[in-house]
Amino acid sequence: MRKIVYLNGDFLPEEQAMVPVMDRGFIFGDGVYEVIPAYGGRLFRLEEHLHRLDNSLRSVRIKNPLNRRQWREMLESLIEKNEGVHHSLYLQITRGVAPREHAFPPDCEPTVFASASPLKPMPVDVLENGIKAISLEDIRWRFCHIKAIALLPNILLRQQAIDRDAQEAILVRDGEVTEGSASNVFMVKHGVVKTPIKSSYLLPGITRDLVLEIAHANDIPAEECSISPEDLTEADEIWISSSTKEILPVTELDDHDVGDGKPGPIWARMISLYQEHKAKLASGDAR
Ligand code: PMP
Repeated sequence: MRKIVYLNGDFLPEEQAMVPVMDRGFIFGDGVYEVIPAYGGRLFRLEEHLHRLDNSLRSVRIKNPLNRRQWREMLESLIEKNEGVHHSLYLQITRGVAPREHAFPPDCEPTVFASASPLKPMPVDVLENGIKAISLEDIRWRFCHIKAIALLPNILLRQQAIDRDAQEAILVRDGEVTEGSASNVFMVKHGVVKTPIKSSYLLPGITRDLVLEIAHANDIPAEECSISPEDLTEADEIWISSSTKEILPVTELDDHDVGDGKPGPIWARMISLYQEHKAKLASGDAR
């Protein structure tokens, strides 16, 4: 089956979807995006993702081209038109096509693109052994709460991790942990789950919020607080979270074991509660 994507109101085969070279997304990276998982055709936390999309668009002064109902209908059609049971939906809005000039062009229609890719389950090895991470200075700009398509710093940071045989870079700005190159960060100390406070230095992750929601609902102590690199080196557990990776245990940081070097018991409890939550979605009992 061919991959069908959405572009500016049309559904068409991916290889036929073309954007003019003068699109400001291509020229300037002038746009924002979202990644939304769908399990068995049901969009996970759609309201939260669309709310964050609204915030990103407002921050860069692009008008939301679709309303809530139009987003839902388009994304559901996209799922139907593509193969697979579980999907990762990517949507991107750029300021549109205009002669190259930094200032906003007058009368420019945003370019709207969306695609659905099969969501693959995490390899068993990753869940059994965890991943390696390295800590790096957060070299990104100061508006990391905006889900901007310009991801060059994130790409360079992730590649530095890969070059050192690690899967994620955990970022530190002014002596505080912010997030991963494409994930939020959690740590556990003495049974308490901790994650950095939301600010313009990190993306307000939808998975992050759900992890906190699940912790509170299940009497797992959890707090939002500042975390230093030293706190991380003394952590019993470290996790990263994202919509597509869910919650992954980090078992090695900067070539040292985290805790006993194995995925920790609080992570095991949290991931099982997270999977229960996803299962409830299928029966319509959860968002
Ligand atoms: N921070 C960054 C920089 C990210 O790219 C992502 C993944 N999109 C996240 C955090 C996690 O956000 P979410 O849980 O909404 O996928």
